[in-house]
Amino acid sequence: MDCIFCKIANGTIPSTKVYEDDLMLAFRDLDPQAPVHVLMIPKTHIASADALTEENASVVAHIFAMASKIAAAEGLHNGYRIVNNCGEDGGQTVQHLHFHLLGGRSMKWPPG
Ligand code: AMP
Repeated sequence: MDCIFCKIANGTIPSTKVYEDDLMLAFRDLDPQAPVHVLMIPKTHIASADALTEENASVVAHIFAMASKIAAAEGLHNGYRIVNNCGEDGGQTVQHLHFHLLGGRSMKWPPG
């Protein structure tokens, strides 16, 4: 499948990994929007949050369970933000489910 994050997950395209297990990979964003900007992805291809179902959504719970450990390992003891951009209006540019873990600065709300 011609999916850049599938290729990162299977090692065809290099990435700077911060965490990996059987179900997920976390790696640094190429274009960081905060001092810490990690992308957390399922290893299986799910196109977006809109493609989640009762059958495939359990990996999201796993990603969120690991997110707090990744945040702690990154030193984000004062909080952080987890973002999912879904679809064109949501600003999604890579069609493989991913969660942005952002931290190391104070975040603004609402997002643009
Ligand atoms: P989104 O716009 O929510 O779909 O986020 C896609 C993110 O993937 C962007 O923040 C990009 O900077 C990031 N990105 C794209 N290609 C790579 C890559 N090869 N390695 C790391 N991050 C990437």
